[in-house]
Amino acid sequence: MTDKAKGELIFEGIAASAGIAYGQAFVVEQNELEIPIYRVDPAKRGHEIARFEQALLETRQQITKVQQEIARNLGDDEARIFDAHLLVLEDQALIEESIRELDKTGYNIEHAVQAVGQRYVDAFDQIDDEYLRERASDIRDVIRRVLHNLTGHSMVNLSGLVEGRILVTHDITPSESAAFDVSRVLGVVTDVGSKTSHAVIMSRSMKIPAVVGMRDLTSKLDQDDWIIVDGYDGIVIARPSEATLFRYGKIQLRRKSFEDKILSTARLPAETLDKHRITLLANIESADEATVAKEAGADGVGLFRTEFLFLSESGFPSEETQLAAYRQVAETFEDGPVVIRTLDLGGDKPSASSQVHLMPESNPFLGFRAIRYCLENPGVFREQLRAILRASAYGNVRLMYPMISGADELRRANLCLEEAKEELRDRGQSFDEEIQVGSMIEIPSAAMTSDILAGMCSFFSIGTNDLIQYLLAIDRLNERTAHLYEPTHPAVLRTIRSVVDAAHSQKIKVSVCGEMAGDPVYVPLLLGLGADDLSVAPGSLPAVKYLIQNMKLSDAIKLTGSAVKKTDPAKIFEEANQFYRDRIGSID
Ligand code: PEP
Ligand code: MG
Repeated sequence: MTDKAKGELIFEGIAASAGIAYGQAFVVEQNELEIPIYRVDPAKRGHEIARFEQALLETRQQITKVQQEIARNLGDDEARIFDAHLLVLEDQALIEESIRELDKTGYNIEHAVQAVGQRYVDAFDQIDDEYLRERASDIRDVIRRVLHNLTGHSMVNLSGLVEGRILVTHDITPSESAAFDVSRVLGVVTDVGSKTSHAVIMSRSMKIPAVVGMRDLTSKLDQDDWIIVDGYDGIVIARPSEATLFRYGKIQLRRKSFEDKILSTARLPAETLDKHRITLLANIESADEATVAKEAGADGVGLFRTEFLFLSESGFPSEETQLAAYRQVAETFEDGPVVIRTLDLGGDKPSASSQVHLMPESNPFLGFRAIRYCLENPGVFREQLRAILRASAYGNVRLMYPMISGADELRRANLCLEEAKEELRDRGQSFDEEIQVGSMIEIPSAAMTSDILAGMCSFFSIGTNDLIQYLLAIDRLNERTAHLYEPTHPAVLRTIRSVVDAAHSQKIKVSVCGEMAGDPVYVPLLLGLGADDLSVAPGSLPAVKYLIQNMKLSDAIKLTGSAVKKTDPAKIFEEANQFYRDRIGSID
């Protein structure tokens, strides 16, 4: 029960999965597994290795079982998280180094596996890259499983969680979160983690409010403490006062009724009050997501990030496999546009688990990424181009290149496309001869030369995620500089305007597909700057559509006219935020 004497405590972390939960904490003690250490007679070396092999086999079977359960309950995409675990398990270097450690030290295999595993985890933990740091958690999870199998001790069993609690734990591995009985958990709070960690992705897909990155909260809470998890603002309040509870009760009601309100018009067109119809498209990462996007009210797909298709298979998908995925999306939307973007590997995209084995780079966002990789691997590129072209026979398919930096790259990409078309003609396979081909504008050099690029393609799509990071020199994943990543920076607004003007003067359309388009606060600015279409994550679609339905384009143009005269990004944000609030009413 609430220990009133201790009073209310507020902790700040990272908002990871939207929603508010209130309940008693189930604090998981992270019991370190006791690893025995003893000398092994060299004559028994074979026996130790056989035990190791048996543990690896059992671990593989367990992970595969969890993966199948997840696929059944949550779908294939979530299940693919475990591909990374299977890859760790198959890592020959890790296996061989454990055996070398056994030979070197003369101690038992558990001891060797733990020592080597820890060295790997430490090495990954130190890498200054969020994605790679999170791979440390995959390794930790797999090593823990192997050690449990070697010692015969069972893992933390979350399925024994008492009904209706909020799980508070140091870290939560995908295998552990797979043991969730959703109806039993009200919320999830972890000491470590970030928005892109596996546990967070799982919480989001299970619609469980989650806050992560709480540092040492597990040591500050008592078992059964009453807590509020605010997954909107990334706050955990322990032992809340009556006044706080009352306030949160009201927030929750308002959020819920706002969500109901925006969902009620999600199936209607995205038309402004002054009758301008905006094409609202979806960003998707798998073929199955097309259905989710359609249900969320999308007119089509503005960005199919195909790289995830390439990473989820043990090797690259064949032309036929790709065709099946692209065709599925095209057929889901019938006449609606479906923009398929060619491979964007590298940067933040988890190339480590693909067959590409890109070399580690000190600045991966400035490195061997996307179109740069494709132009140096024409076989892979043309195979994908053929699959996209063939899918164009089944719907309104368009093709788009990522990370174009200038005319030469666009010209070379188009040459590959012509070769791919020729190959299909030779094979007698049909495709849309008039297929529209677009260029992403996400590198400042492309923006600066957009007047030239506009003459070489049929549409632009502005990728604000990358464009902002390159324009402002702010790593889009670095938490320490996150506050400097400002979509309302005058440089961003001016660049978008000049790209739109260059496109319109050559009669081609401009879509915006970065996260900026999915945040309703920025939508009036983008429309006011002249963007023709917006492409957003399916989850953001209803909120963006609701705002469009409740604003006038003429007002957005006025807002933008005033914003571009301002010099302070915070002031521009304030003005845009006010515009948004005035049209949708208060939500918190
Ligand atoms: C972007 O950069 O804005 C974009 C949409 O591409 P991605 O996020 O896949 O790099
Ligand atoms: Mg990008």
